[in-house]
Amino acid sequence: MTARGGPVENLIASLTREVADFPTPGTQFKDLTPLFADARGLAAVSEALADAAAGADLVAGIDARGFLVAAALATRLGTGVLAVRKGGKLPPPVLAEQYHLEYGTAVLEIPASGIELTARRVVIVDDVLATGGTLAAARRLLEHAGAVVTMAAVVLELAELGGRGLLAPLPVRSLRSI
Ligand code: AMP
Repeated sequence: MTARGGPVENLIASLTREVADFPTPGTQFKDLTPLFADARGLAAVSEALADAAAGADLVAGIDARGFLVAAALATRLGTGVLAVRKGGKLPPPVLAEQYHLEYGTAVLEIPASGIELTARRVVIVDDVLATGGTLAAARRLLEHAGAVVTMAAVVLELAELGGRGLLAPLPVRSLRSI
């Protein structure tokens, strides 16, 4: 499900900074920093995602911009938040999941102890959905830990990259799709 032309989508559109050729030539980077720095922007994003994520009992945010959305959403839902970290940031023991990037591989990690994830209903959150590889890896990681991933939620979806298809049949809620 994707919101079209509503006030949240318009706010996202007006508060996204487009940066050509970053971080690699040919990539059109969508910088949502202005949106998150805007009081109305952050409130509107978390409110709109909270409608879709009702019923989740934990919000997992992807390193690093996903943390911002996840914490705001968790506060709305009245849940805790789990930071899904890039490899090498967390002290051991960790659970890790490798995934492919355009060039090479990357790793996502969560703590292997101290958080009970069995049967927890988790919504996974990031700022931008592109190919879907990152959210798919986060999903595998959380499911290996025993969680039930109920949906993915993002602010901005780059539809032509097909991330939604990679995540199917997991429901994906994006607030703006381009
Ligand atoms: P992907 O795994 O291809 O779906 O990439 C998603 C991750 O990379 C997210 O954590 C995004 O923050 C980041 N990302 C990928 N493409 C872009 C882009 N064009 N603009 C901003 N962030 C991006």
